[in-house]
Amino acid sequence: NGESRFPPLPALAELTRPALSWENGAPHSQAFEDVYFSRQDGRAETEHVFLDANRLPERFAAWQAPRAFVIGETGFGTGLNMLCAWACFERHAPPGARLHLVSTEKYPLARESLARALSAWPALADYARTLCQQWPDAVAGVHRLLLGPRVTLDLHFGDTTERLSLLDGKVDAWFLDGFAPSKNPQMWQPDLFSAMATRSRPGATFATFTCAGVVKRGLKAAGFSWQKVPGFGRKREMLAGHIDTPPDDTRRQSTPWFTPPAAKPARHVVVIGAGIAGASVAAALARRGVTVTVVEKTAPAAGGSGNRQGALYVKLAADTNNQSRFYLAGLMYSRRLLDALDPEHRLWQPSGVVQLALSEKEAARQRRFGEHHPLPDELVRGLDHTALNREAGVEIAAAQGLFYPQAGWVRPAALCEHLLAQPGITLTLGEVSTLERDEDGDGWRVALADGTAISADQVVIASAQLANRFAQTQALPLQPVRGQVSEIPLPDGVTGPERVVCAGGYAPPALDGVLTVGASFVPDCAEDDLCPRDHTHNLAELEHMLPALSRALVEAGAELRPEQMHGRAAIRAASPDKTPYAGPVPNAAAWREDYAALGKDASQTFTTAGKHHAGLWVSAAHGSRGFSSAPLCAEVIASHLCDEPLPLEAPLADHLHPGRRLIRALSRSAN
Ligand code: SAM
Repeated sequence: NGESRFPPLPALAELTRPALSWENGAPHSQAFEDVYFSRQDGRAETEHVFLDANRLPERFAAWQAPRAFVIGETGFGTGLNMLCAWACFERHAPPGARLHLVSTEKYPLARESLARALSAWPALADYARTLCQQWPDAVAGVHRLLLGPRVTLDLHFGDTTERLSLLDGKVDAWFLDGFAPSKNPQMWQPDLFSAMATRSRPGATFATFTCAGVVKRGLKAAGFSWQKVPGFGRKREMLAGHIDTPPDDTRRQSTPWFTPPAAKPARHVVVIGAGIAGASVAAALARRGVTVTVVEKTAPAAGGSGNRQGALYVKLAADTNNQSRFYLAGLMYSRRLLDALDPEHRLWQPSGVVQLALSEKEAARQRRFGEHHPLPDELVRGLDHTALNREAGVEIAAAQGLFYPQAGWVRPAALCEHLLAQPGITLTLGEVSTLERDEDGDGWRVALADGTAISADQVVIASAQLANRFAQTQALPLQPVRGQVSEIPLPDGVTGPERVVCAGGYAPPALDGVLTVGASFVPDCAEDDLCPRDHTHNLAELEHMLPALSRALVEAGAELRPEQMHGRAAIRAASPDKTPYAGPVPNAAAWREDYAALGKDASQTFTTAGKHHAGLWVSAAHGSRGFSSAPLCAEVIASHLCDEPLPLEAPLADHLHPGRRLIRALSRSAN
């Protein structure tokens, strides 16, 4: 398809924790035989070497751009540099300015070590606590942390050079850290400096503690100019410099259709749809100071997002592919977001999810997954029958399963309402009929069915299966999938599962004495009336997953007559490849013309970048896993729109691109 020309992501490697010794309260790396910082004057050193040499206090104070100021760092370590940068930003930056931190780390500290190391700096205690609360598990990839209302940190776990080569974003100032070149020669290679150069904004600065020849030569060869400046304390010299004209990013030469449109500042954005996709986009934009009008036909979470309980879960492929990587990142992001939004668990429950293997095929798949995946037990682990029963708190019919301790369930309507309750968001009830360019061709005129219209700089379509109803989105393949859940009031003495249990369908822990089971899965059906046939299907699924509970319900006289049962049916939207769409809307007519030669030769190369409907975005096709996918997709769109680094590796951002099926169709016609 349209992505296959992109070099594949490196295999999902297992990350190792660093072996540390502690000297006077400061961590020391046993493998590199070097210190993370000096206990005596580490903070003063950071301020001298990285902050002052990049002129951050002055640059922060003068920052007026509509986008965030971006710092890139090699080697996050304890985070001291980044926390100092954050504190400096809070001290100097004017209201409305935002800071975006990007840092790589191949050997992430355990949370306890991080907290221990940072306890050396009482003045940074609040910053350190926020970082430690959100500190991700040791999983290679990008982890976005919302540190404060105006500060975002993207941790790129993995080798620095590899991670910078996958970074989709540009940097204003570099902290070139990492253990000394003599102790860590593998990192200080020409490829590192050229990756930094390509990911630099024109005029980007850098600073580093070292003056080693290999660093001077590498930076110069990559296009940076440098000068020696006085080092900290007893160190006589260090390097600081900048790059005027960074080299072009050529990574999308073979997939020019995925080249993102140039960012244009937006003050007012219309979001169509107030389900989890739209509410997440609105909240992500509002957090960035953008004014948002959400237009919704009925009410927040009235469609596919609207059951009493929604599962926060993923199903990962045995051989980790791009889709699995995206969902894994999505689950981890949603979990961090929910933890921060609602630590009291009023909007969600971190109950964990057990995924049963009820067929030999699924059992074999799970075994293969168990053998291959490099993920920590805190994220996913295999369970045998006994452990499954223990975790689920009810008798389970499977010999084995997978346990996702960090997954759980959410209250969809409450979550969407909470996301929409941010300052800067207005909810308007109405049905959008057409989208037209406004008179000066710069923005959009969003026409509603009642004859009124709203002007917007940009528009995000997040209306599930209705997302391709507009003239501009007709080429977006979307399949409606009907899903009905059944609600069973639990008779006295009968309790539901303690975790979300899923196989074909799912059953979360009972809420207010009512057990929800679902959802039926009827592709290409857009009818949302309750139907007894779907209740029958759900009851059969319950019996299959949880036979003892099913029996107990019968014996206790629960209402199980399909004609009498309560529940809810809704339509979800799916893409043909089951990955959501999140990104700019391609101009399908232009793509068909510009890339027509793919129809004759699918390996044809092109120089024309993908043309898009400027300022039009889509987040859709979240299927039944929207609580894991939509919040991260919202960050992808908000980051594009606000010209910030993306929260995913470039190939994963392309994997979500709404034009991928169009390119696939064009290439297919070559066969
Ligand atoms: N900036 C850090 C701070 O503020 O605490 C100190 C950085 S410490 C001196 C160097 C860091 O670079 C370590 O955390 C180490 O694990 C990391 N590192 C070393 N080689 C690396 C590589 N090839 N890729 C990514 N990180 C690396």
